[in-house]
Amino acid sequence: MSSHDFWDKDVESLDRKPLQALQLQRLRQVVDHAMRTRFYEPRLKKAGIFSSADIRTLDDIQKIPFTTKDDLRECYPNGLLSVPMNRVVRIHTSSGTTGIPTVIHHTQQDLDVWTNLVARSIHATGSGKNDIFQNMMTYGMFTGGLGLHYGAERVGMTVIPMGGGNTKRQLQIMKDFGTTVLHITPSYMLHVLSVMEESGILREELGLKKAYLGAEPYSEDTRRKIERLWQIDVYNSYGLSEMNGPGVAFECIEKSGMHVWEDVYHVDVIDPETQRSLPDGTEGELVFTNLLREATPLLRYRTRDIASFLPTPCACGRSHRRLSRITGRTDDMLIINGVNIYPSQIENVIMRIPEVGNNYQIHLEKTGALDRLIVKVEISSAMFIGDLKQIDNLKELIKDNLKASIIINPSVELHEPGSLPVFEGKAKRVVDNRTRI
Ligand code: AMP
Ligand code: ZN
Repeated sequence: MSSHDFWDKDVESLDRKPLQALQLQRLRQVVDHAMRTRFYEPRLKKAGIFSSADIRTLDDIQKIPFTTKDDLRECYPNGLLSVPMNRVVRIHTSSGTTGIPTVIHHTQQDLDVWTNLVARSIHATGSGKNDIFQNMMTYGMFTGGLGLHYGAERVGMTVIPMGGGNTKRQLQIMKDFGTTVLHITPSYMLHVLSVMEESGILREELGLKKAYLGAEPYSEDTRRKIERLWQIDVYNSYGLSEMNGPGVAFECIEKSGMHVWEDVYHVDVIDPETQRSLPDGTEGELVFTNLLREATPLLRYRTRDIASFLPTPCACGRSHRRLSRITGRTDDMLIINGVNIYPSQIENVIMRIPEVGNNYQIHLEKTGALDRLIVKVEISSAMFIGDLKQIDNLKELIKDNLKASIIINPSVELHEPGSLPVFEGKAKRVVDNRTRI
């Protein structure tokens, strides 16, 4: 496939002007639709929007008030539903393990739109009907399972719906069926590698070419590490259940930023403090509007995810703008002795060091009035059989690099390969014991 091969050429290469005209037309439709919901009607009216006639230009979207995760939680379970329940064919929720989940209802048309975007995304990575696709994301209410599943079938891939876990069996299936493409979290992908080393299955026995990695933040160095160790191409995939799930933004074969499918999603990047819009190239919180949602219209949804739009067009010829890597979430920022730190800053430092292994964890403790940051790092198998002096040097190196990058002085603990907790879905990297009595 050449980089100019599209799933839906007319839409994917549409010039910016007609693309924005299409966004405006769809925005007006979705505003009219949202107006029929108990949740949006009073909010929109209060903001001076009585019908789509009050949305004249795309910039008028700024008049629409934000919708937050808390709003969605207050609407649990059916408060945002805008069609009769007998038109709803599926329900998904966010994957958070605590608190009330956010619920999204889908009509058949909603699912079709979503499936088509996933198909478009998969096609943009050069995969198709000759691929064997093993979906190692959790199936169930989490969207990473079924979302990719239906899109992969639509492009004609052979789908193996494994779900997460049972790593040895995953490897056996990969070998027996000649899996060429995986969908998996980056943390689990690194763990599968450690299990392969123990299991006796050799890399040469696998036909693996690509992996779609997403559902959690990871650094560019982690991508490179996985590509090098697995000898595959890794494509970043971004999505959130509130905007359907995977297939919101995906890397094409250029692997340099994720195209947001702007015919379906309007995105604004805002300063989370002032709530003002920021220009392309500036990092801020992503605010999404789903322009084609039937069952659960969501306008100007504050995702809490932090990223920026890349300011230049992609070499592939798609006109839809590309998002940078998600560097963190406004709610995962750690305040350690008054210093603001995102977990991704720590990952950026440690995953650049080749002797570092496949897993790490960030612990926070309180000693008297002071916070203590302990970074637990698995070392690589090669390093594990090395001498103690080398291990000491590595510890100092990690410590120095962290200190230079995040200012505060961490303790670093080195652990043997495979000894830190493993997550088969989204990893929980931060253990904050500061609030415990
Ligand atoms: P959920 O709605 O449970 O599927 O979770 C969606 C959240 O996962 C997003 O809001 C992001 O915080 C995170 N996420 C998904 N994909 C990525 C990605 N490629 N990089 C970083 N974070 C991601
Ligand atoms: Zn591209």
